[in-house]
Amino acid sequence: MKPLVLGTGNRKKGLELQQLLEPYGFALTTLADHPDAIDVVEDGDSFAANARLKAVQQAQHLNRWVIGEDSGLLVDALNGQPGIYTARYSGSNATDDSNNQKLLKELGDLPLEKRTAHYVSHITLADPTGQVHIDCEAECHGRIRFEYAGTGGFGYDPIFEIIEYHQTFAQLGAFVKKMISHRARAMRQFIPRLFALADQIPDE
Ligand code: IMP
Repeated sequence: MKPLVLGTGNRKKGLELQQLLEPYGFALTTLADHPDAIDVVEDGDSFAANARLKAVQQAQHLNRWVIGEDSGLLVDALNGQPGIYTARYSGSNATDDSNNQKLLKELGDLPLEKRTAHYVSHITLADPTGQVHIDCEAECHGRIRFEYAGTGGFGYDPIFEIIEYHQTFAQLGAFVKKMISHRARAMRQFIPRLFALADQIPDE
């Protein structure tokens, strides 16, 4: 297996990406497995900039190949908010629940057809010197429900409905998410490019 580090401590995100990469011979650890990791300040003005910060700074610090993933939710009726502020939408002590509650409150009783939104995932790979080798971005479209449904996933998944399925990501579960999520779609661009430079990544 070839080792890669995901530059996040978010275990659920880590698990989703681990499951997507493992079949291809890459062993993904997260920052939870690297106690010497640094806290990267995500002060970029786009998903791409933040993914790059997470990949490059952590790769140089850990002297390893690092994947930086930055994602978020853009709600059309809120002019694309929360966007790059998705993780801390309801403040610096935000939880998934407080973020979801805030979003439901902001949208109020806006009718379903006007509650369209999409997730974005940007994925960047940097080598131990900090050089960027891969940059990919993908989206997943849906709409925001009036109330929670389902128990799977994380973040906004209980209120994010995939329109074609009439169910939220939290109801659809890991298997469907692995096929159609923003992260899965970005990974489908990423994996062939990762293969092309696999010889440069040492085995563990
Ligand atoms: P990041 O870790 O700074 O990239 O924060 C991304 C935030 O976007 C997370 O904390 C979640 O709130 C949200 N998010 C990203 N991807 C997903 C997803 O697949 N489901 C639900 N929420 C997500």
